[in-house]
Amino acid sequence: MSYSDEEAAGSDVEEEETEEEKTLKEMVNACKYGNLAKVKELVGKEEEEFVEKRDEEGHTFVHWAALGGYNEVVNFLLEKGAPLNEHSDNDYGPRPIHWACVHGNITTVDLFVERGVPIDTTDLNGCSPLLIAAQYGQSLAISYLLQKGASKFHVDINGDSALHWASFKGQPEVVFILLNAGLNPRQKGFLRSTSIKGDIQCAEMLMEHGGSVEDKDSNSKTPRMLALGRRHKSLVKFMDTRDLSNIWDWKTVVFGPPGRSRAGVIFFLAAIICWAYPMYFIKAVPLTMETEVNAHIAFWVASVFMWVMFVWSKFSDPGYVKTNREAYEEALKLIGNPSAWGEYDNMNNPIYNLCHTCKAVRPVRAKHCRQCNRCVEVLDHHCPWIDNCIGRKNRVAFTVFLYVLGVNSMFCFYFSWRIVELEGADFAMYIGLSLFAVFSISGLIMIGFQLYTIIFNLTTNERANYRRYRHFRTSNGRYKNPFDRGFMKNCLEYWNVIEQVGVLRRRGNHIV
Ligand SMILES: [Zn+2]
Ligand SMILES: [Zn+2]
Repeated sequence: MSYSDEEAAGSDVEEEETEEEKTLKEMVNACKYGNLAKVKELVGKEEEEFVEKRDEEGHTFVHWAALGGYNEVVNFLLEKGAPLNEHSDNDYGPRPIHWACVHGNITTVDLFVERGVPIDTTDLNGCSPLLIAAQYGQSLAISYLLQKGASKFHVDINGDSALHWASFKGQPEVVFILLNAGLNPRQKGFLRSTSIKGDIQCAEMLMEHGGSVEDKDSNSKTPRMLALGRRHKSLVKFMDTRDLSNIWDWKTVVFGPPGRSRAGVIFFLAAIICWAYPMYFIKAVPLTMETEVNAHIAFWVASVFMWVMFVWSKFSDPGYVKTNREAYEEALKLIGNPSAWGEYDNMNNPIYNLCHTCKAVRPVRAKHCRQCNRCVEVLDHHCPWIDNCIGRKNRVAFTVFLYVLGVNSMFCFYFSWRIVELEGADFAMYIGLSLFAVFSISGLIMIGFQLYTIIFNLTTNERANYRRYRHFRTSNGRYKNPFDRGFMKNCLEYWNVIEQVGVLRRRGNHIV
């Protein structure tokens, strides 16, 4: 047989395989993206056993529908006789309920539990749904499973529990829920797990609940030694400063505690107060004041305006969410009862707007800031240059601050340039020119991003994390920004001229 014959024979076999694979792939995709009509069409066309088939990696169709949280597809497949709770045919052997936990699809997990799947059913590594939810930081699924009676002490084949996994993966919200559920961090090296990942917030919670930095593992290594070995300098520093004898360490007082550094704002202030203004008074004023008086007046007006806006955006309340424990407790109960969610949609369901740290049901678009340790309404981002959050209440001041900062940086660049022209360049002037060029360019980039935020009504946080929010998805899984009201209304809303839409409001004891 010649090479070309072999090739032709090979392609025949390939075509045969491709035909079968094609249907299988179409079915997997239909399940993956929740296309019920396509699923019905393919199941109708094929033989009865078709629903029991698996993809190339050994997963059933129910696995794929569970991963996407498409309950209608799951229900249809189960009615047609698809397996409810089988392992995938691979090394880990997850069951569909485990895949539903990966994305925290509580209603899908509830569907399996209601159909009789044991709440602590394990994959081939001994992981229960609770452990999988802990690995992926699915705090709502954790609350649901605990309410339904999942064992918080369950361990996998390596002896790791949900708290080990949450500590190891750096999932502070899950650590918080598990500690509140009564797990004792003094046992079994939870702090050592978090030292490997280096998450300060997890370590802080574990230490607050009694986790010890001196707790040694089988190799005589303490959590501090593990953190040091993995170069988590901030965590090591945090573990040290928790020692009362180090609490007045001058670096902590000036630059802030580890993980909540004030280095950005100190650098910004030092560059202006210690370098820009002295250079301006010593060099720019004597050389150019007489010839360019208008530029100096404009610079001073912009300077005063900049400091007013800086103080306003740095020291004002960015929109902190108040604690509302009653509503929080009410929403917690709702997690274990998905059948009562009918009256809410993805945007206003309080269970999607819980903050366990603040013990609050926060408005839609609010987010917890790790540095400030508070929830902030319409959080844009935490700005290191002003060391404050940018939220609904101070975003206007911050935007104006950005504009005048950009103008001032350009003025400074201009004055530095004039000094070089009149006096020639020295080392200090080169530093000045570079510094102001960097300030001007980064100012322009930030202004560009801020304009995007205004025009499309999408915060910096939402732009980066829209996949995490259910309300940015349509029923068929496509991206849609529910806050976009068109150019004009978006602008008016940003400047607080008109009210934003989609804010959770409370009426009596109920959230509407
Ligand atoms: Zn919060
Ligand atoms: Zn903040």
